[in-house]
Amino acid sequence: MGFLFMDKVDAIIIGAGVIGLAVAARLSYFLSNVVVIDKNLHFGEETSSRNSEVIHAGIYYPQHSLKAKLCVEGKKKLYQYCQQRHIPFNPIGKLLVASGEQQQDFLAKTMTVADNNGVNDLSWLSQKELHSREPEISATAALLSPSTGIIDVHSYMQSLLAELEHNGGIFIGQTTFLKAETNNSGFVVDNVSQGHSSQIQAQYLINCAGLHSDKVANNIQGLSRENIPKIHWCRGHYFSYQGKSPFSQLVYPIPKDNGLGIHASIDVGGQLKFGPDTQYVDDLSYQFPENLKQKFAQEILHYFPRLDMDKLHPAYAGIRPKLQGEGQDFKDFVIQDRHVHGIKGLVNLFGIDSPGLTSSLAIADNVLSRLDFC
Ligand SMILES: Cc1cc2nc3c(=O)[nH]c(=O)nc-3n(C[C@H](O)[C@H](O)[C@H](O)COP(=O)(O)OP(=O)(O)OC[C@H]3O[C@@H](n4cnc5c(N)ncnc54)[C@H](O)[C@@H]3O)c2cc1C
Repeated sequence: MGFLFMDKVDAIIIGAGVIGLAVAARLSYFLSNVVVIDKNLHFGEETSSRNSEVIHAGIYYPQHSLKAKLCVEGKKKLYQYCQQRHIPFNPIGKLLVASGEQQQDFLAKTMTVADNNGVNDLSWLSQKELHSREPEISATAALLSPSTGIIDVHSYMQSLLAELEHNGGIFIGQTTFLKAETNNSGFVVDNVSQGHSSQIQAQYLINCAGLHSDKVANNIQGLSRENIPKIHWCRGHYFSYQGKSPFSQLVYPIPKDNGLGIHASIDVGGQLKFGPDTQYVDDLSYQFPENLKQKFAQEILHYFPRLDMDKLHPAYAGIRPKLQGEGQDFKDFVIQDRHVHGIKGLVNLFGIDSPGLTSSLAIADNVLSRLDFC
């Protein structure tokens, strides 16, 4: 805990989710004193431990968007990282299922979008082929994405932290960022840790505060309000499905309501879960609304007619930090450096919703490329 009493470090990263940890781990190869702070006791207590744990292929995002570019790059980097560092993962593959001609047309368009993003490995399955692979699924056709996979996010974050610590950096929990002021050497950062104030001088300041990144940015001196987008909170719930999974791969219906649809994903331990739905919220509550099970069942029955309602149990919820409000169109990740806001050494990340986990290592490299020394 020596750094708590040191008044000068090279870089402070606000937020120890998968993005802050990935940035910190990468940065620690270039700078000796890298500090990651989080207001929670442990790393990854917010969105990073409340998601589908899917390594996305990069299928849906508009061509040339950061989401498309960083997802495809990030997927490759993440698979390599998992292999090198023995993180539990499985390139299990995913089926995008369609019911009827209209949905099949949507999948055909999706294949073109994927192709434009450099995801050229999708293939069509006829109803017969699908039935022999996945007899429990009801659909008229499907697209197979072989490069979609799953990962144990906790082990991944633990590994990033180990890398950071190995290179001399540290994580400080229960430390809330309050404000930062600029001076000739970078930033003076005020934090509060368990009721005690601390002030740290840092040359670089990286805002990876997820759901709170707009609030953090609002407390950085000199940052113009017009460069701080509003973060909309969009909750998604999951139900676990008791017993052995009836599917061998991930199953995704057609995307809807600013989400990927209530899909079936299997974690590295073999547990099947359905979700997430999308519900814009004003408070950070992870509570399940009433009658949600019925709503889930209606959606799932479209592609899994033998669903047993008694096996569906509320599991957990996560909240997406979205730049698009309800009903609005696609919004990309936003990564801002001095070329946008004019403050040397500062990088802000906004709207890192899905595929943020998949993109994390590519996002980290992108952040590093915006700092002068890299
Ligand atoms: C329902 C759902 C499903 C998803 N599924 C997938 C998926 O399958 N695949 C995929 O690639 N992506 C998925 N995502 C997206 C992915 O989870 C996120 O992109 C990723 O976790 C974002 O990580 P983060 O580090 O930016 O945010 P977080 O994990 O939220 O970390 C931010 C951290 O900042 C800290 N913080 C905030 N304010 C302060 C402050 N003032 N002082 C100190 N610390 C502060 C918080 O405590 C928090 O720990 C999903 C997201 C959701 C919600």
